[in-house]
Amino acid sequence: MRNEDGFFFPDDFPTPFDAAFATLHKAAALNGVPAKPIVRALGFKAKHRSHTLTVTPASLQLMYGADRPFLAATHFLDLVDAFLPAGARGQPKFCPGCAADSGYVSVFFQLKCVRWCPWHRQALLPLCARCVSAVDFKPDHGLPDEAYLCPDCGYRVPSIKVIMASLRSGLCAARVASSTQFLRSLARWQRLGVLDELDVDGPENDRLPESDGCYEAFVDDPSMGLYRCTIDLREPAIPPLPPGRYTTVYRQLIHFMQERLLGPHRTCLLNAQASAKNEERPCCLFAATLQLFRTKFEAAPSLRQEPQLRDEAVEALSALGFTDVSLRRYFRVTYYQLLSRMWYRVRYTRSFGVLFRPDYYYAVFQPPLPSLDIYLGRSIRGQVHSIKLDLPKGLAAFRRVLQHDDAAATFYLCRDQVRTLNVNHRFFGAYGGGLHFMY
Ligand SMILES: [Zn+2]
Ligand SMILES: [Zn+2]
Ligand SMILES: [Zn+2]
Repeated sequence: MRNEDGFFFPDDFPTPFDAAFATLHKAAALNGVPAKPIVRALGFKAKHRSHTLTVTPASLQLMYGADRPFLAATHFLDLVDAFLPAGARGQPKFCPGCAADSGYVSVFFQLKCVRWCPWHRQALLPLCARCVSAVDFKPDHGLPDEAYLCPDCGYRVPSIKVIMASLRSGLCAARVASSTQFLRSLARWQRLGVLDELDVDGPENDRLPESDGCYEAFVDDPSMGLYRCTIDLREPAIPPLPPGRYTTVYRQLIHFMQERLLGPHRTCLLNAQASAKNEERPCCLFAATLQLFRTKFEAAPSLRQEPQLRDEAVEALSALGFTDVSLRRYFRVTYYQLLSRMWYRVRYTRSFGVLFRPDYYYAVFQPPLPSLDIYLGRSIRGQVHSIKLDLPKGLAAFRRVLQHDDAAATFYLCRDQVRTLNVNHRFFGAYGGGLHFMY
């Protein structure tokens, strides 16, 4: 229990990712006072001297103990604005189940695509404006079992006893853990380039979809592992690598892939190559990826001829000051990033396109930002690039993808279109037919 300007806040209160207005409601209920004096006291302390009282991150931060710094931002959806397309935010909603067991209102419930509570599997209900405008909130002392019940929208703030119990029992901690997972999923989708394609509205759902990236995002996906690779471009090679060296290093990777990794997959490689002639034939994910990877870097990739980098590729890469080591890593990362994007997409969509950008040789290094377009033309020279890749978790999972015994691991490539026999799943409420990406 902590005291802040005469107001008391229990240990582990507030709960991160609880909407700011709901946090203030509970703070008022716990202290048995209207919200206004709390905002005034904490808000002024944080030097927000505006005439209209609003709940700010700074005022919420004061409800946290000194051992829980920098958590205030989690109560506002601004936290995820950098990830999501414009228009993703909608009307604030609440879950009756959450309101009853803890008074928790996830900030993510404000997203249009989140229509169901991921924990209670209940449809979310819209909040009225009076409930969301938190500073006018007053607990109702006349109610027997709760601190507040809105006659208009049905939103409620539970009793002090329920709020305290939800903090002690670990219920709130569990909600934080899965909300944190949702943030991690957003970062993953950013890396996989699917957020650019997100349908923020999606169709109206009358029932909770069984599979939908939106709700799956609240739980960890055990099949996906995070792999890290660093490319250090701080000290360029002196003298610069001769132009022929780029092709040599590139060839080493292609030879490794074709002879070692895909040695037993000669048919896959031949079938993938046939796709350049508009023939659709089955191959495995690794062979399909290699074909598309080579199409980006070479004018006419062929199994019979030695790989030869395009002139534009050599020119673009020369400007970056690669050393032998960083160049080798660059090619590997570029291949595996393509693999991760293809592998992820077929979970949701049975076909997608890969759009080649010939001027797009080093997008892979850029930090997470909403749209891929803005990366173009930026120099990455002189920096250390820490790259994260989302790939099958563990060697056994990698081998399963390489075995391609089942239909799900078989790809049909026709030029830059990729197809599988998988069924379409919903992605954020919509069928992900448009999950193509730039490469
Ligand atoms: Zn709920
Ligand atoms: Zn209401
Ligand atoms: Zn194969």
